[in-house]
Amino acid sequence: MSMALSAPKKSKDIAKIRAGVLAWYDVERRDLPWRAAPGKTADPYAVWMSEIMLQQTTVATVKGYFSRFIGRWPRVNDLADADLDEVLVEWQGLGYYARARNLHKCARVLTEHHEGRFPASLDDLLKLPGVGPYTASAIAAIAFDLPTVPVDGNIERVVARLFNIDQPLPGAKADIHTNAASFAGGERPGDFAQAMMDLGATVCTPKSPKCLLCPVCEFCEGRRAGAPESLPVKAPKKKRPERRAAVFWLENNAGEVLLRRRAESGLLGGMMEFPSTEWREGEWPEVAERETAEPVSVDWLLLPDEAVHVFTHFKLRLQVFIGHTDRIENVAGKWVSRDNFAGQALPTAMKKVVRLVDAHRNPAD
Ligand code: SF4
Repeated sequence: MSMALSAPKKSKDIAKIRAGVLAWYDVERRDLPWRAAPGKTADPYAVWMSEIMLQQTTVATVKGYFSRFIGRWPRVNDLADADLDEVLVEWQGLGYYARARNLHKCARVLTEHHEGRFPASLDDLLKLPGVGPYTASAIAAIAFDLPTVPVDGNIERVVARLFNIDQPLPGAKADIHTNAASFAGGERPGDFAQAMMDLGATVCTPKSPKCLLCPVCEFCEGRRAGAPESLPVKAPKKKRPERRAAVFWLENNAGEVLLRRRAESGLLGGMMEFPSTEWREGEWPEVAERETAEPVSVDWLLLPDEAVHVFTHFKLRLQVFIGHTDRIENVAGKWVSRDNFAGQALPTAMKKVVRLVDAHRNPAD
């Protein structure tokens, strides 16, 4: 496999590819709720929100969340005025909660320092919380028509194929970005970025690209080389490590359950959870470790099944212990009735614990 950088395309080819992709987009563009109608200026707030939501999440899933967020908080200032808890609750199910915290933080920064408007420069966009190089470039191109090409997964694939970049990821990223940047000049930067995204999502798809329908087929080095579907080359997957913990479902005399808030920073920061031992690799926690983590010392019943949740970097297995106490003084946390869980920012892993307890209490007939 070649480790050499891909040969740059001639500028006339770049111009033809740009023109071909834009002409295709004018006919085939996807109608997405955050997109401006053809010929209209995009709303930076909608572009920013959709791009944050689309990180690690599919378009189909994001559509509903996006509409709910925009419906509830139609402007930056509305989102800035919201409580973080409301935002986290509305975000439930999307995962990667740092995105929701940064969304809220960013809205506040925009309100306090930019009069509720997005700055129209890459450098200033990059200073906003939760806005990295990709998101800044996407907002700059789509909302402000600045000459930049954001490289998301779709564009990465299209560019790797057009230029036949066959070095494995992540090593190939620099080459892909350099080649993507060769499209940055020229008309309609925002439409070009969205056109490339659409081309990757609908024609130049991961497993079986529809090259016969592709508007830039004649310029595609990957196709000429014979196996575009193998590009970009992925590094072999590492086995996902497994972490284990014991979770404590503690009820009081009023039938309320004890929740606590996770630390603001780190995984699922600021979300609610049931008290637990540390989530760590290795065997199930022994009695001594469990006793240190128990919110109170009571008789605990271990449920026969476990709750399992898969995060990007590890798999979490949770043993669930149920207990009851009539002493609620000096118990750290928040007592919440089961019926009010919907109003709590409970991550999916904790919702699986709830389902397990519900199934234990109400076994199917
Ligand atoms: Fe992708 Fe095929 Fe088009 Fe090349 S010709 S960009 S592989 S769809």
